[in-house]
Amino acid sequence: MRRYSVFALAREALRHHGGWTRAWRSPEPKTDYDVVIVGAGGHGLATAYYLAKNHNIRNVAVLEKGWLGGGNTGRNTTIIRSNYLQDESAAIYELSRTLYETLSQELNFNIMFSPRGVMMLCQTEHELRAMKRTAHATRLNGIHTELVGPERVKELCPIINIHGPRYPVLGGLWQPRGGTARHDAVAWGYARAASDLGVDIIEQCEVTGIDTTGGRVRSVSTTRGEIRAGKLCLVVAGHSGVLAEMAGFRLPIESVALQALVSEPIKPCLDIVVMANTVHGYISQSDKGELVIGGGADGFNNYTQRGSFHHVEETVRALVETFPMLSRLKMMRQWGGIVDMTGDRSPIIGRTPVEGIYVNCGWGTGGFKSIPGSGWATAGLLARGEDPIAGPFGLERFREGRMIDESVAAAVAH
Ligand SMILES: Cc1cc2nc3c(=O)[nH]c(=O)nc-3n(C[C@H](O)[C@H](O)[C@H](O)COP(=O)(O)OP(=O)(O)OC[C@H]3O[C@@H](n4cnc5c(N)ncnc54)[C@H](O)[C@@H]3O)c2cc1C
Repeated sequence: MRRYSVFALAREALRHHGGWTRAWRSPEPKTDYDVVIVGAGGHGLATAYYLAKNHNIRNVAVLEKGWLGGGNTGRNTTIIRSNYLQDESAAIYELSRTLYETLSQELNFNIMFSPRGVMMLCQTEHELRAMKRTAHATRLNGIHTELVGPERVKELCPIINIHGPRYPVLGGLWQPRGGTARHDAVAWGYARAASDLGVDIIEQCEVTGIDTTGGRVRSVSTTRGEIRAGKLCLVVAGHSGVLAEMAGFRLPIESVALQALVSEPIKPCLDIVVMANTVHGYISQSDKGELVIGGGADGFNNYTQRGSFHHVEETVRALVETFPMLSRLKMMRQWGGIVDMTGDRSPIIGRTPVEGIYVNCGWGTGGFKSIPGSGWATAGLLARGEDPIAGPFGLERFREGRMIDESVAAAVAH
């Protein structure tokens, strides 16, 4: 891999940019791999990268039915934070956030990590109490957050109206090193670095069947032929149920569309991320100037991967009291992604009833922030058979009632 640097840029500028090579290889699939990962979203690609980098397992394929990063990884609102309530969550999300801090250097690819700070508003007494608890819990886990008053919220976010008649701002949970990153770049950066370490990334290759003869994984059928797999890791987010069915087991997840929208580009007016959980909306400003606005999930299971008008109306209506200037903006685009929701709103990383098949799913509405930590932990699990960070997130927890409950704690769990 040719390293990207200021010197490479200068050299190419003098050569009319004719010397750049492809960022990742596009090989024909081999017939046999030690590890086959299904899904080239952030989690699949990060898993492949850390398998090669941390564990020297390089005979690895990542199979993607569409294009790399075309699932939820390329559809989210890019919020990164680690202020989760439960210890297990704090461990994986903070590992992730820490890895994000230096990911551009690690991957030699600018992922545009911007630790601009994330503010979670408290707009009811109940929410204020809940956030107080979260602030104490995060502090005990060594994560820097602060519970701030309404005046400080206003100082950090001048466009906010803290005196709303229905939902006045009573305070906020502030994580100064939370922020955003460029979602496509995260996928592209991991793909490029993994490919350089020998991982085969195979796009336009849909998995259509899984051979589990004798109770263990043998091979996968794909639109580009049969591929034998020593181990198989399903990392397909909203399609996890579909792949699990191919392998003959069920997962405790539901798939629903989650939507987002962006406004027309405007001058810089918001340099932090604000999440308004009570009214269910969150907002940040992109480098292009668009306000990036996240809304709710559909109230019914589906695989549509589309936006719908009523969500635009509901989300903007909910936010307009807190951000009155939104009422003057045109909304430019909306879209949806299929997220995989578990009952406790925590992910699943672990073995399955079929020997040799592992899953990484259930990130729901909040798995962009966890891509580096999740890849790190899943690679550890695949390589060593167990991993301290992934351990608590196994499927057994649903049978044993050991939930890692982030549903009440997070409300909007992005
Ligand atoms: C609108 C929206 C806003 C969000 N906002 C945030 C946010 O602000 N912060 C945050 O942390 N998270 C957010 N999320 C959640 C986050 O995007 C996801 O949790 C995360 O991207 C999941 O990544 P993944 O790699 O598991 O899945 P994906 O990126 O969905 O990748 C799975 C891949 O599997 C492929 N696939 C499926 N079936 C097959 C098959 N049979 N064969 C081969 N390939 C297959 C798909 O094509 C896809 O590319 C948001 C999600 C949405 C939809």
